[in-house]
Amino acid sequence: MSRTSTHRGRRWARRCAALATALLVLVTLPAASTADGAGGADRDRGRAKTVPGRAPADNVILLIGDGMGDAEITAARDYSVGAAGRLALDTLATTGRRTTFSVDERGRPVYVTDSAAGATAWATGRRTVNGRVSKTPGTNRPLPTLLEKARRHGYATGSVTTASVADATPAALTAHVTDRSCKGPADMAECPADTRAAGGAGSVVEQTVAARPDVLLGGGADHFAQTVTDGPYRGRTVLEQARAAGYQVVRDRAELAAARTDRPVLGLFAPDYLPVEWTGAPAAPGGTAPQRCAVRNPARPGGTPTLAESTRAALGQLTARRDRATGKGFLLQVEGASIDDRAHEADPCGQIGETLAFDRAVAVALAYAAHHPRTLVIVTADHGHATQILPDDARPAGLSTTLVTDEGGRMLLGYATAGPGGTQEHTGVTVPVAARGPLAHRVLGLRGNTELFGTVCAALGLR
Ligand SMILES: [Zn+2]
Repeated sequence: MSRTSTHRGRRWARRCAALATALLVLVTLPAASTADGAGGADRDRGRAKTVPGRAPADNVILLIGDGMGDAEITAARDYSVGAAGRLALDTLATTGRRTTFSVDERGRPVYVTDSAAGATAWATGRRTVNGRVSKTPGTNRPLPTLLEKARRHGYATGSVTTASVADATPAALTAHVTDRSCKGPADMAECPADTRAAGGAGSVVEQTVAARPDVLLGGGADHFAQTVTDGPYRGRTVLEQARAAGYQVVRDRAELAAARTDRPVLGLFAPDYLPVEWTGAPAAPGGTAPQRCAVRNPARPGGTPTLAESTRAALGQLTARRDRATGKGFLLQVEGASIDDRAHEADPCGQIGETLAFDRAVAVALAYAAHHPRTLVIVTADHGHATQILPDDARPAGLSTTLVTDEGGRMLLGYATAGPGGTQEHTGVTVPVAARGPLAHRVLGLRGNTELFGTVCAALGLR
């Protein structure tokens, strides 16, 4: 949530249109050149056949661990499968790194991004100011998003998160607001130009219903319960607006499983964020007694679907909507949101539990891709976070805790980007990116996070 200030500037983005030529070349190349051509990815090589006149991929699954830098991944790996073990996300052999910086209103680099500017980067191919959602720096104009483009090209679309579906990362696909705080019609203080009264497109949830993704799963019931203040739905709740747009609304695992595939589905599984999976003692000044994490959170209702379950349900829904005539499948984004949220609170057990929940969603995506090889799977993060893995006899100045890992080791985790009672900060490190499937080789090396936009456009043939 932390923000840095704003400016404007250089155009880092790679626009979809500029890729049309490259795409024409790619579709004429042999399959092995376009399907995960990286060394070490031999098992993927050549499985997805290129078809002349057809985009390299039928489906793209983009999985975002919010605040999931290398330190957060390593802590989760060490705790669960052990230092020499491998998570599902570690099995993707084609890997690279992404810069994550945002910009100020004049376009000058700001070295630490927030989640809104981070998601805007891959959703639109453009860097923006911290806090802004899929609008330009400086001029504050809406930028076309991957989801909007995919929908216009006849793909089914979906977004799954453990946050509110109005939170910054999912919002970057479905809405354009001056500030991420403008989630519902009662939250518009920071977005005067976006209000319906001012001729704007309204709050995130109103715009999201209008963008009409086929599948939208997460929390945020409180935002949908707000009353629309202007426009054709004035005086009705956003939820009523969603129902009028054809959405079936589901509230728990059983209702999600029973959802029909001939209407869009809106899953609202919590008032705002979904309760996390694991709990434990937060890091503290001077450390804590060695602890094991509690792997059940009593505050998490039994009917709450896991991120993996929601991802599986979304894939089922989206597969049922595949266009059999054109072969066009879907674009799905999956966000593990509370890795970030728990790291802000220096809560290592909450953070690791959410990282592992995200990793199980990655496993679901990889299993799907194994049966649908024309699927590009990309796993990455929007920014790094405050976690540090320290020698177990260190006496760090900030907050810390010692976890006893599954393999019996002692792991000292430090959080020192804010003092006691403060909120831990994002960090400006590059983040890992990994991929499997058609065009996976495009994640190799160090590139800007904006380039993910061009990769997804090229994979699905979006212009
Ligand atoms: Zn954050």
